[in-house]
Amino acid sequence: MARYVYDFAEGGRDMADLLGGKGANLAEMTRLGLPVPPGFTVTTEACRAFLATGAEPEGMAQEVARHLSALEDSAGRPLGAPDDPLLLSVRSGARFSMPGMMETVLDVGLTDDSVLGLAKASGSERFAWDSYRRLVQMFGSTVMGVDASRFEEAMTRLKEARGAPDDLHLDASDLAGLTDTYKDLVLDGTGEEFPQSPAEQLRRAVLAVFRSWNGARARLYRRREGIPDDLGTAVTVQRMVFGNLGADSGSGVAFTRDPATGRPGLYGDYLADAQGEDVVSGIRNTVPLAELERLDPRSYRQLRDHMLTLERHYRDLCDIEFTIERGRLWMLQTRVGKRTAEAAFAIAAELAEEGLITPDEALIRVGGQGLARLMFPRFDTSVTGAALAHGIPASPGAAVGAAVFDSAEAVRRAAAGERVVLVRQETTPDDLPGMVAAQAVLTSRGGKTSHAAVVARGMGRVCVCGAEELTVDTENRCFATRDGTVVQEGTVISVDGSTGAVYPGAAPLVPSTVMRYLETGEQSAGVVAAVARALEQADAVRRLEVRANADTPEDAARARRFGAQGVGLCRTEHMFLGERRHLVEEMILARTDGERDRALAALLPLQRVDFTGILAAMDGLPVTVRLLDPPLHEFLPDHTELAVRVAATEARGELPSLRDTELLEAVGRMHEENPMLGLRGVRLGLVVPGLVAMQVRAIAEAVVARVRAGGSPRAEIMVPLVGAVEELRIERAEVERVLAEVSAETGVPLPCPVGTMIELPRAALTAGRIAQEAEFFSFGTNDLTQTTWGFSRDDVEAEFFSAYLDKGVFAISPFETLDRDGVGRLVRIAVDEGRAARPDLKIGVCGEHGGDPDSVHFFHAAGLDYVSCSPFRVPVARLEAGRAALERTGGGARW
Ligand code: ADP
Ligand code: MG
Ligand code: MG
Repeated sequence: MARYVYDFAEGGRDMADLLGGKGANLAEMTRLGLPVPPGFTVTTEACRAFLATGAEPEGMAQEVARHLSALEDSAGRPLGAPDDPLLLSVRSGARFSMPGMMETVLDVGLTDDSVLGLAKASGSERFAWDSYRRLVQMFGSTVMGVDASRFEEAMTRLKEARGAPDDLHLDASDLAGLTDTYKDLVLDGTGEEFPQSPAEQLRRAVLAVFRSWNGARARLYRRREGIPDDLGTAVTVQRMVFGNLGADSGSGVAFTRDPATGRPGLYGDYLADAQGEDVVSGIRNTVPLAELERLDPRSYRQLRDHMLTLERHYRDLCDIEFTIERGRLWMLQTRVGKRTAEAAFAIAAELAEEGLITPDEALIRVGGQGLARLMFPRFDTSVTGAALAHGIPASPGAAVGAAVFDSAEAVRRAAAGERVVLVRQETTPDDLPGMVAAQAVLTSRGGKTSHAAVVARGMGRVCVCGAEELTVDTENRCFATRDGTVVQEGTVISVDGSTGAVYPGAAPLVPSTVMRYLETGEQSAGVVAAVARALEQADAVRRLEVRANADTPEDAARARRFGAQGVGLCRTEHMFLGERRHLVEEMILARTDGERDRALAALLPLQRVDFTGILAAMDGLPVTVRLLDPPLHEFLPDHTELAVRVAATEARGELPSLRDTELLEAVGRMHEENPMLGLRGVRLGLVVPGLVAMQVRAIAEAVVARVRAGGSPRAEIMVPLVGAVEELRIERAEVERVLAEVSAETGVPLPCPVGTMIELPRAALTAGRIAQEAEFFSFGTNDLTQTTWGFSRDDVEAEFFSAYLDKGVFAISPFETLDRDGVGRLVRIAVDEGRAARPDLKIGVCGEHGGDPDSVHFFHAAGLDYVSCSPFRVPVARLEAGRAALERTGGGARW
């Protein structure tokens, strides 16, 4: 039969699945010989059984009774005994820490009788009634469902009546009276008397803690943290120790290092004459832990020793809850503590330095998400002052701008050179121009997957969403904060997308020291040194190469500074925009071969200069140039605009210009219902004469120029959107013909590898055949995701992704993190069949997933040779490629 209860002495930290983190760590501390009040833990398995059936699993009650009586024996007194009661705490604790999200009941065992016994045994009537009123309050709200605020109101009324600034100024008879008031509230709210049987109190408290797993707060927290809903919570039953026994008692929380910066030393808060819940409830002001050294030097020293023991034992930052009962220190909880990104890097580096963990372990403990955060400039929080509001940090970064309340105003002001923050209740696709124009987007509604959040992240805009404290009044162009402050349009505000805070005025920014290090190599102490250490370790252990997606010499140079080992994707279409657009128009409008050749010839030198610059920036490293990919009409004017212009001219009785008429005709001819699946990619090369030849010649001549300048150019030519090997065969022949031609003209050998993107399911499924014509594959996972799901990214993301995320169709957008099951399967097929056909096939990825931590782990596991991502993501990819190499399972990178 299953076993549902474990004494602290029987557990350990590796049993967190069964005992929850709290129970497992209490057991671990007990085994380490630290002063932990004795107790036992009811397993998560019992909780799951209870939640599934609504009844305690068979045998659980008997097991609890057996462990209770052992506890009573060791304490030398029974639970709730009238003369000298044993009291218990009943605590929640799940596999993953969910601080404050579930329930705890303290002082179980107090009744109208035993409160008198407790007063006598402790010698403090005030303490006894303080404990009893706490039990009625916690039991009343948690177990019996009375609204917690009703107890708080009664307490506030009493303090007012007595003129007491805080609860310490209430005496024994005040608290006895308050207990009566609380009991009335229970009777009034539930029609039931507060239970006077200690055994019943215990049983009901345990079941209530089980139920608190499914409380609204806990469910919301799990959804946000990605914790599964079916784990259940364990329940720890433990002898009470008392911090509310007078000035020589108290409760506190402590960290073995500063969780904000990682700096070593004891950090924490202490509150004298208090039970633990008071420390975080803000009922009275705490003092810094250092004060305890003065108040109670012996306990302070003991605490310091225990914390050292714990940090050595766990080999990580620990956070701790403790209580001092009349000068005696008790340890009530420990866990490996949460920390900021900065602290994560600093602590990992320092523990490795101390030899407590290996450099590999240090690398595992940091992550790309955190590194990305450290690369943004930040607000200097030492001078920002109080925030106007807090929302959900949805897209990181720090932005300052004038508040504007609609998209048009944002566009207008931005065009005039003003920085703006778009403030909306929530955004819709109509707000897109404003979002593009704004530095940041702030909404009062919606979560991390709202339209505002999804779109802002995609565009790299700062976003704070769901700031529910704000009332946004679009009509009157202002918003109001909870305390009534009204912020009018045009007022400057600051938005911190990393913390969710919104500040008044222009909060001062501090540039990221990590970014400066990446840009210049300039080392400094602290977090920069820690990041440098982690990246060095990652570079030493990773198998994946990291390249960058770069279209300009500047981007290529930056990527190289960030550690890129080449360009994995150089998009040539960007070179067709701006003033060169009219040359592209000429090419499209050309009626004769001669006209077309002239247009192409004019484009050629421009392209050559671009390629020469990029090859120079990446000298000695591979540069993969993709031949033109997007449909040609993207380079022509908008159809409606053109049609209006022509119509307006005609209406004035004038003749539209020949060029406008021709353009309008061409745009109409080239219109496609679904251009994403139309004439683009390799198809363009096959049907637009001269286009491929011009591009390849530009590349080849750039290589020649670089060779003649003494460089080592390594251009690779990549054909987009291939679906059939025949397409690649035809295009490749053309590429090789031009390469040979230029080589013959110049006498410079041109050994440029020719490869293809794999971005259509058909390409992945026929990869074995395609590999016969390709020297390399590069997965275009953006298009591959679109074509695998049948999603048009621009259309669906803003339209319904938030609904899909809410409904749980997927947990994260497949455009953000690679969909392993579908798209990933195609990747694996293509890798296997491609390599089977051509063992030395070089394989990489150049979609945005190349810089996404979780996806990088997948690409490592799938056996790719490199990932390529935007320059700013290169350090993130390096770090995650290193972590992936250390991971045995290829599991995931989320941290
Ligand atoms: P949470 O998971 O929300 O931190 P806990 O189970 O840790 O909840 O309980 C909250 C507080 O109750 C603790 O910080 C501690 O101060 C107090 N507490 C819990 N158990 C005991 C106990 N055995 N004796 C005294 N105080 C306790
Ligand atoms: Mg706790
Ligand atoms: Mg593509």
